[in-house]
Amino acid sequence: MARVKLEDVSKVYKGNVRAVTDFNLNIEDGEFIIFVGPSGCGKSTTLRMIAGLEEITAGKIYIGDTLVNNIDPKDRDIAMVFQNYALYPHMSVFDNLGYSLKCHHEKKEIIKEKVNNVAKLLNIEELLERKPKELSGGQRQRVALGRCLIRNPKAFLFDEPLSNLDAKLRVQMRSEISKLHKRVKGTFIYVTHDQTEAMTMGDRIVVMKDGFVQQIDTPVNLYEHPINIFVATFLGSPQMNMFKVFLKGDKLYLDDKTYLNLTEKIQNKMIEGYDGDILSLGIRPSDFALGSKQDYDFVVDKIELIEKLGHETLIYVNLPGREDNTIISLKMDMIDELDGPIYLKVNKDKIHLFNDKEESILKINEYNFIPASFTLDNNDLKIDKKYVIKNFKNKCIVKDEIDITNGYIKIPSSSFTLEKHNGDDYMIQVEVVAKDIYSNTNVYFAKLKDENIRITFTCDKNKNFNKGDTVKLYANINELIATDENKVILMIKDEIHSPIKNMTIKNIGKEYYVITNDKMFAKTNKYLLLNKIYDLQDKMILSLFNQKDEEIILKVERNENFFSGMLIYTKYKKLK
Ligand code: ADP
Repeated sequence: MARVKLEDVSKVYKGNVRAVTDFNLNIEDGEFIIFVGPSGCGKSTTLRMIAGLEEITAGKIYIGDTLVNNIDPKDRDIAMVFQNYALYPHMSVFDNLGYSLKCHHEKKEIIKEKVNNVAKLLNIEELLERKPKELSGGQRQRVALGRCLIRNPKAFLFDEPLSNLDAKLRVQMRSEISKLHKRVKGTFIYVTHDQTEAMTMGDRIVVMKDGFVQQIDTPVNLYEHPINIFVATFLGSPQMNMFKVFLKGDKLYLDDKTYLNLTEKIQNKMIEGYDGDILSLGIRPSDFALGSKQDYDFVVDKIELIEKLGHETLIYVNLPGREDNTIISLKMDMIDELDGPIYLKVNKDKIHLFNDKEESILKINEYNFIPASFTLDNNDLKIDKKYVIKNFKNKCIVKDEIDITNGYIKIPSSSFTLEKHNGDDYMIQVEVVAKDIYSNTNVYFAKLKDENIRITFTCDKNKNFNKGDTVKLYANINELIATDENKVILMIKDEIHSPIKNMTIKNIGKEYYVITNDKMFAKTNKYLLLNKIYDLQDKMILSLFNQKDEEIILKVERNENFFSGMLIYTKYKKLK
C-alpha cells in the first residue's frame, strides 16, 4: 500500500465548469479517508482524478513517491470499487476473483492459493462456485472487493459503493468495509454524500462544498470543532440549531431579555474584536437538557411537537434568535406533556460561534504572549533578569535600531512541556481554568499565576488537570521568541530566519512579490498577508503571515509603500 498526495489539484470541465479548486491533501499509507459533501461538490471528480479516469487541469498527484499526472489509469496500480459491481455475469465467483491474475498469465496453483486467501478474508469461501446472479447485493459487493484485493493495489478507491443497497444492508456493509480496512491495512479513499457513513467509517474526513475543501480532520474534531457554518450544519443529525445573537461583553443576547453567559472556556477560545457584533450561535440538539425552575437558561411555555425515537426524544420549541423551531434531543423518554413551562439548560461549553463570513471565531490560541522585561548584556538578552538568550544580538533582526526594555515572550501553545529538560528551561506557573479535547491532545486554558494573563497549552491526552490546579510549564530557552510591545518579532528562530537570506521584494506590475531562491518557500507560500510594518530610518521590517498563520519576517529597503493587509505574492527565482 502507499500514501497518496494531492497538491493544488484543480479541475475545470469544458464550458468553464470549475468542479475542484486547489485540493491539497496528504493521505498516509494505510489511512481510511472519506470525501463527503453534497451532490455536485466535486468528490467523484477528485476520486476519478486520482484514478486517472479524469485529466487534471492543474496540480500534482502522487501515489507513493511517483508523480502520476501522466500515468495511465491501468498503470497507477490502484483499485476502484464502483456502485455497480461490474462482475462478469457468465463467470463463477472463483473465476471473477482470479480473472486479473489469469490475464497476467499467473500459474494455476498461485491463482488458486490467492483466490482462496481472499475468499477467506472476505468470508465468501462457500460462494466460489456460484454465478453473480445467485448472490445477494452484499455478497456481490464482497466479490467486487475481493477482485480488487487480489491484485494487492497501492490504494483502494470507493465511489459511493453502498448507495444501491437497502438501509439494513448498508449498515452491515459499512461495518464490513471498516473491518476489512483494519484487516488489510490498506489506503482507502471513499466517496459518500452520507454524513453518517462518513462519521462512522473514516480515520479522517474531507468535507467539500462547491469544489473547495472546507475542513479536513478526524470525525470527532469535525463534530466538536467545525470551522464554519457549512461544516457545523452538514455533520450531525438532527442539524445544529443556528441563532442570530448580539455579543456584548461576556453575554450573547438572543433578544432584549434572553441571553447566555459565555463560559471561561469559550472566552479563552474566542478571537478578539467581535464585541458589539451580530454573530451566529450554534447549539447542537444534544447540547440541550431539561433544567429546573431554579437552574435554567431558557424557559418556554409550550412544546410544539414531541418525536419519540426510542433511544432519544426530540422536542421542538420556539426560542428567540431564530425563526424555525429549535430541535432539542433528550436522552430518554423524559417528557410527555406539551404544556409548560419547560425549563431548558444549554451545555454552554459546547456552543459554537460564527462571524458574518460564517467562519468560526472559536480557535485555539497557537501562540502565547507573556509580558517580559529585557536587558541587553553585550550580545545576550536577559529576560526578567533570570533567563538568558545567548547571542541574541546576532539573531536579532533589528539589533542596531532599537533598544527594548519591555515586551513579550512568544511561545507556541504546543511547545510547553510538563517536565523540566535541562537547566536552560524557561518556567511559568499557571492555574488551569478549562479544558478542551482534540483527537489526540488535551488543550488547557489557564491563567498566569497571580496575573490575569491567558495561557493556552497542549499536552498528551492522558495528562489530566482540573480547574484550579497549579501547573508548572517549561519551554526551552532556545525556542523563545522575543517581541516588542507591539508583538513584532525582534528575535527569530533559525529555521524561520533561514529563508529570509535569499529573499528580495519586488514590484511586478501592480503586485508585490517576494522573490526567493528557496523552492520550498515559493511552493508552500502562494501569498503572504502583510501584518505589521516596522518603519526604521533607512529600512523597513515587514511581518507577514503565510496561509498557515506562521510569521515571516522580511527586511526591505525603504523605497516602497506598503500598508497592512496587503497581499504579497511569492515567486521562485532560478538559481544561476
Ligand atoms: P460529486 O461527486 O460531489 O457529486 P462531481 O465531482 O460529480 O460531484 O461533480 C462536480 C461538478 O462538476 C458538478 O457541478 C458537475 O455537474 C460537474 N461535472 C461532473 N462531471 C462533468 C463532466 N464530465 N463535464 C462537465 N461537468 C461535469
